[in-house]
Amino acid sequence: MIAAILRTVFGTKHERDVKRMQPVVAGINALEPEMQQLEDTGLAAKTDELRKRVADGEELDTLLPEAFAVCREAARRRLGMRHFDVQLIGGMVLHEGTIAEMATGEGKTLVATLPAYLNALSGKGVHIVTVNDYLAKRDAQWMGPIYQALGLTVGVIQHEASFQYDPAYVTADIRMTALRPIGRREAYAADIVYGTNNEFGFDYLRDNMRFALDELVQRELNYAIVDEVDSILIDEARTPLIISGPAEQSTDLYYKIDRIIPKLKRAATIVEGKLSEIEEQKAGDFIVDEKAKTVSLTEAGIASCERLLGIDNLYDPQHIDALHHIQQGLRAHSLFRRDVDYMVKDGEVIIVDEFTGRLMPGRRWSDGLHQAVEAKEGVRIERENQTLATITFQNYFRMYDKLAGMTGTAETEAEEFAKIYKLDVTVVPTNRPLTRINNPDVVYKTEREKFDAVVADIRERHDRGQPILVGTVSIEKSERLAALLKKRGIRHEVLNAKYHEREAEIVAQAGREGAVTIATNMAGRGTDILLGGNADFLSKEILRKKGLDPATAAPEARAAALEEARRVTEPEHQRVVERGGLHIVGTERHESRRVDNQLRGRSGRQGDPGSSRFYLSLEDDLLRIFGSQRIQSIMDRLGMEEGEPIEHKLVTRAIATAQKRVETHNFEIRKHLLEYDDVMNKQREIIYGMRRQILDGASQADTVAEWIDDMTAATLDLHAPGDAHVDDWDLAGLAEALHRQFDVRIASDRYEDVPSRAALEELVTEAVKARYAEREQELGTDLLRALERHELLIVIDMQWKDHLLSIDHLKEGIGLRGYGQRDPLTEYKKEAFDLFQDMVERSKAAVVERLFKVQVVRDAPMELPAVTAWARTQEMRGEMPGDRPGGGPPPAAVAVSRPAPVPKTPTGEKIGRNDPCYCGSGKKYKKCHYLQQG
Ligand code: ADP
Ligand code: MG
Repeated sequence: MIAAILRTVFGTKHERDVKRMQPVVAGINALEPEMQQLEDTGLAAKTDELRKRVADGEELDTLLPEAFAVCREAARRRLGMRHFDVQLIGGMVLHEGTIAEMATGEGKTLVATLPAYLNALSGKGVHIVTVNDYLAKRDAQWMGPIYQALGLTVGVIQHEASFQYDPAYVTADIRMTALRPIGRREAYAADIVYGTNNEFGFDYLRDNMRFALDELVQRELNYAIVDEVDSILIDEARTPLIISGPAEQSTDLYYKIDRIIPKLKRAATIVEGKLSEIEEQKAGDFIVDEKAKTVSLTEAGIASCERLLGIDNLYDPQHIDALHHIQQGLRAHSLFRRDVDYMVKDGEVIIVDEFTGRLMPGRRWSDGLHQAVEAKEGVRIERENQTLATITFQNYFRMYDKLAGMTGTAETEAEEFAKIYKLDVTVVPTNRPLTRINNPDVVYKTEREKFDAVVADIRERHDRGQPILVGTVSIEKSERLAALLKKRGIRHEVLNAKYHEREAEIVAQAGREGAVTIATNMAGRGTDILLGGNADFLSKEILRKKGLDPATAAPEARAAALEEARRVTEPEHQRVVERGGLHIVGTERHESRRVDNQLRGRSGRQGDPGSSRFYLSLEDDLLRIFGSQRIQSIMDRLGMEEGEPIEHKLVTRAIATAQKRVETHNFEIRKHLLEYDDVMNKQREIIYGMRRQILDGASQADTVAEWIDDMTAATLDLHAPGDAHVDDWDLAGLAEALHRQFDVRIASDRYEDVPSRAALEELVTEAVKARYAEREQELGTDLLRALERHELLIVIDMQWKDHLLSIDHLKEGIGLRGYGQRDPLTEYKKEAFDLFQDMVERSKAAVVERLFKVQVVRDAPMELPAVTAWARTQEMRGEMPGDRPGGGPPPAAVAVSRPAPVPKTPTGEKIGRNDPCYCGSGKKYKKCHYLQQG
């Protein structure tokens, strides 16, 4: 009530916005004569001038009127379209990082060129996001001449192909006119990039799986204009982008390692922690620390493994995987007992919870331990598909510095846009007043009666020559209706949003006399329906019929064809207008009012006449599930006969109420999914941030130093807790751990007279620091810094992948747990956090251990594993947990296995690390030429 009064006094927010922008529109218009006087070159020179002013610090906002005037003039010259005033307003709304609601046919494609041009002046790139590849291509080709005239480059991102807009490029394929194939990175370097949400999102994920800066294709995410924004940010937001791949590169190595484990001899078991117990370790291959649940190889053990596996150096970076597998294999064999720590049931290793003794099906030990136990038990190693990278559109698009969107239908979803994306909606007035007549809904008792009525309506209008567009909620319903029409001999076209390009051609002619077009709600989107037909499309058809290629035909032939097409469409346009324009038939109410409005909005564009009507039945899902009782009672009250529809305001209102309820419900689901993804999003930001830093070449020395400190402290705490008595220190365990993790040996007598914990800490810390300083001496500072980056990157990738696998399992499991008192989201957050902490700890341990021990060949380029963990991936759109009760994403197709990498032997012959060097120096190979080899 109060809102209504305020509205009449001050106007709606939208009206105020528009009012505020009027003076700017006047300013742009005032610049027009000046622009019109410029030569083409002078107009193009404006871009450089404006760019320079941006570089000198001028705000884009102050440049807006001039930039818009320049862009409008270029459009007028090159496309024969001069931005309408309301389009200027739309452009301003987009520039402000807001959603512009502009009806179908208002020319949003052209609108986007204004803010795109203005924002591209900063040189940081602008992304224009479309709902399918066809539209990305079409819009770039269509708007390309404007940008080209102004000296801006345009990139086009397609699925598995990238292009640059270049009118000089000649191709036989008319659909690819002016699109020169180029590399993806080059395409992204363009000032303006057209592409779909899927491609932009997947490129982002793929970039974060790469190993070198020059392999990244995207630049920073600066400004995105999302076309059909409701469809992309709302309808598609339920299915995140997922890149998946086999959880295991190869399971062979596990079995291979498992076979050598029994051949290794246990040297000692540290139980009590007396230093003396590890003295005689030289005799065996490995030492087990039951308290710390770790196993480490002795010098002899390393040699044994190298001999058994036939490899020369276990500490060579290329064999580091084998070393890791051996350690896990040893743990599996000596620390994990069947029927105590785990059970084997139906060929599966099931963990026994160490505190409760309960079986924990579905849970897996991480970091390769579970697989090692599977190998030990001789059961099949699960080679499932796992998530390697995933993101929701919400979180992808929130990364842009500035985000804007446009669509015919945003206002009903204003709350969601505001809450999730911080995007406001501004309704831009139409260029011409809307005259479409929206008839009230009619409701039938049964679906059969409803369809009969729909067919009768179509029949009658079709016979009169009025074009009809019929919307359905599914492909199945489209086909059902098509069958009915066929039976009655009514010619029609069916669109299912499968073949975007072909369907665009069909829908472009949906406004022809008597045309009947059946479409699901996404089909043919983005293509304008002109009453009487689209002369442009028709002229191409005419050329093709004459055996000419519309792309390469001489300009005269093209002009003649267009002329001929116009001779057809212009009088036809007149006749269709007289018959009432395009009529829209809805065969069901969609769950969301927005989608219904989309359908309706396809008629009555730019002041055209038009009409719409929705046909419903009590058997429709929406009415059956969400509104039936109330509607049924209204029906009963109004008295309803077989075959007789009901058309009443009360019914319409009840249906709207039902829709609102479903909309709220769906919003809740999307919000819920986002809450799940937000947990991962924070973790993803940390990991991707670190990766990017490493790739940028930033020194990781501080991180490493910190991690070494952390690991030292943790080792001390484990074996000599601060509150323990000196006699209770587990010095054997400590000595062993120091050796294993830091390659540090402290003479045992030096432990003897350590008076206090502080002194012990000092002794250990100094020794570790000294050892690392020694490493720096050995390798040289530059090489060590490079090694740090290299090891961090490898370990992070490995551990992150492992973590994502755990998260996959957690998601699967969490749905099942929701039935207790606990809230699954809270559980999920807590466990995901714990898992991440564990992962960070494991990464620290692995990085530190490798930095102290990995042997590097001086001056040799540091190579990343030839076969990265990311090979053989597939992209898909998946579900989020909670989307289906109790279920995670369905398992994706299993990828084919790849042969194991062949170990590189530099000389061609095999030479063991401990063999005498081939040069005859008498020194061991590993101490001699191995180090010098390039
Ligand atoms: P929307 O995406 O808003 O539905 P489109 O961008 O597909 O609309 O454009 C609809 C039609 O309007 C196109 O055929 C286009 O040529 C035409 N159009 C848009 N703006 C103008 C203009 N300023 N002058 C003339 N025609 C225009
Ligand atoms: Mg459009």
